[in-house]
Amino acid sequence: MNINTKNRNKWVDAQISSIEILTKNTRKFIIKFFNNFDFVPGQFIQIKLKDVIRSYSIASYSIDKNKLELIIVKVEDGQLTSILFNDTAVGDKIQVRGPKGKFVLPEDTQRDIFFICTGTGLAPFKSILDHLNIVQKFPRNLFLIFGTRTKKDLLFYEEILKIEQSQPHFNYIPVLSRQKWEGSSGYVHKEYMKIINNLKPKDPLFYLCGWKNMISEAKQNILDFGYDRKSIKLEVYG
Ligand SMILES: Cc1cc2nc3c(=O)[nH]c(=O)nc-3n(C[C@H](O)[C@H](O)[C@H](O)COP(=O)(O)OP(=O)(O)OC[C@H]3O[C@@H](n4cnc5c(N)ncnc54)[C@H](O)[C@@H]3O)c2cc1C
Repeated sequence: MNINTKNRNKWVDAQISSIEILTKNTRKFIIKFFNNFDFVPGQFIQIKLKDVIRSYSIASYSIDKNKLELIIVKVEDGQLTSILFNDTAVGDKIQVRGPKGKFVLPEDTQRDIFFICTGTGLAPFKSILDHLNIVQKFPRNLFLIFGTRTKKDLLFYEEILKIEQSQPHFNYIPVLSRQKWEGSSGYVHKEYMKIINNLKPKDPLFYLCGWKNMISEAKQNILDFGYDRKSIKLEVYG
């Protein structure tokens, strides 16, 4: 899929067609367009509400091209998330610009791929996974390492588990930082480091998404393994 640069700086009208509570502070917003909206999984859009503009990764992919999903965490006293969480209802109009960004998979890659994220940083990977699942073309080895606090915060847990069960080359590693459970506990870092130590991948690609502390630490760890800067792709939320 080619990255579409046509019209990406033009605002278009769209509508909030559904709002779903996913966790205590995270919601899924379905945005409906009046025309088809093309994007490559992994890209983001900008939304404008009451003159406040913010970026959000697209968190879905479907053959139905006139809608997409966003997963958004409420930031305390955050300008746009306060409007979205306190003052927005289904049916409201919003303006959208994009798609933007190059946080996308290379086509037909033979490289081992690591997706490393925390919280709503899962969004672009959810879109990429939805797409891979539709076209049934997974990379050689794909690892999704997703960090969050407790079991209740595991976004799209069942959906992703289901994909993992049907794809031998896809490994889903959810990690909880504030709860002991049957899966991994602690932080994401020890999980990808363990895989790198075991597998010693020759030419992997690392995709890091979320808030800047996790990203800087992961980037440094990967560089310390001796991998090149060009093997790391970043989507930094703030
Ligand atoms: C390319 C891109 C894609 C993004 N995609 C998503 C997404 O899919 N989902 C999503 O929830 N957010 C995403 N963000 C973040 C989003 O754009 C906003 O920054 C966020 O929603 C806060 O906006 P606000 O207006 O409510 O807060 P603001 O009023 O802009 O921010 C308040 C302050 O809080 C800080 N801050 C923002 N978020 C956090 C946080 N989670 N924890 C601690 N401090 C924080 C900011 O740096 C700022 O100093 C993305 C950002 C970028 C650049």
